[in-house]
Amino acid sequence: MTAPGVIELREVPVPEAQKDTVVVEIAYIGVCGSDIHVYHGKHPYTSYPVVQGHEVSGKVVAVGPEVKDIKVGDRVTIEPQVACGTCYPCTHGLYNICNNLKVLGFQTTGTASDYFAISEHHIVKLPDGMDYRFGAMIEPLAVGVRAVQKAGDVKDKQILIIGAGPIGNLVAQTVKAMGASKVMVSDVNSLRLEKALACGIDVAVNVKEEKLIVAIEREFGAERRADIIFDCAGVQPAISSAVSVARKGSDIVVVAVYEGVPQVDLAYINECEIRIIGTARYNFDDFKTAIRLVGDGLINLEALITDVYEMPEYLEAYRKIATTPDSTMKVLVHVHAS
Ligand SMILES: [Zn+2]
Ligand SMILES: [Zn+2]
Repeated sequence: MTAPGVIELREVPVPEAQKDTVVVEIAYIGVCGSDIHVYHGKHPYTSYPVVQGHEVSGKVVAVGPEVKDIKVGDRVTIEPQVACGTCYPCTHGLYNICNNLKVLGFQTTGTASDYFAISEHHIVKLPDGMDYRFGAMIEPLAVGVRAVQKAGDVKDKQILIIGAGPIGNLVAQTVKAMGASKVMVSDVNSLRLEKALACGIDVAVNVKEEKLIVAIEREFGAERRADIIFDCAGVQPAISSAVSVARKGSDIVVVAVYEGVPQVDLAYINECEIRIIGTARYNFDDFKTAIRLVGDGLINLEALITDVYEMPEYLEAYRKIATTPDSTMKVLVHVHAS
């Protein structure tokens, strides 16, 4: 992407495997909400030109002489965060919030090419039989996995997820897989709500048709309401309603990426002992958990895929999401047959 909304396809040399790098023949790339911010020129930490692509699957076609754990022919995805390894978060188990973090496709070159070379430490193996389309969706699922782990034990909990886009859907499926007793998603988009039900979510509420609090009291009980609320929408009305429908002692997990600075009622949060929990991206273990959940058949990824474009139509993938978000869930770009 040479400027917002402008993509050029260029011929570049095929990278070689040196030292601890492996070369991956890219199969699929997912396009996500953050990519659309870059497409609109509204991503605060990305400059142009940039090669995008951070949700990816592919096959290893070459390995460098120092590579230990990966071999030619492995089916893989890539953990796209490049951390410094020396700052406070990095040395305290939180490299995903590294002070000097670079993410593939935003602050450093992404995977939107036929072949991509990267250190084996970023490579996560997929099970042999896993569909490459699903392999490109492990990254957004890992976002959901981390969000759920930040919330703590979800077993037997009643859970509300505000926002039924790909991340909200995957958070909902993850809490179901981890034993939540009842899961409700809310949105204004009927396609997204239908997809949630198709994925086995218990209740889908269209807040254009029914007040959220009415649905919560009916489904969760007026006293107990939701034990945990995930904000996967990232707009002011979402966080406002999360706080207003919480009961005393609910937890709110902020998963969505916000534009601007939303307001919340801190007096209410204080009085009701509501905990607000942040979660950012994922780490290597979250990728492994995501792969295990898919391998165990606990997550329906097929239902989320609405569009697949071929590599030369890369710009169309962005246009589709930008212009018709109401009829779009996960959009993939197909690069190689693999
Ligand atoms: Zn993404
Ligand atoms: Zn760091």
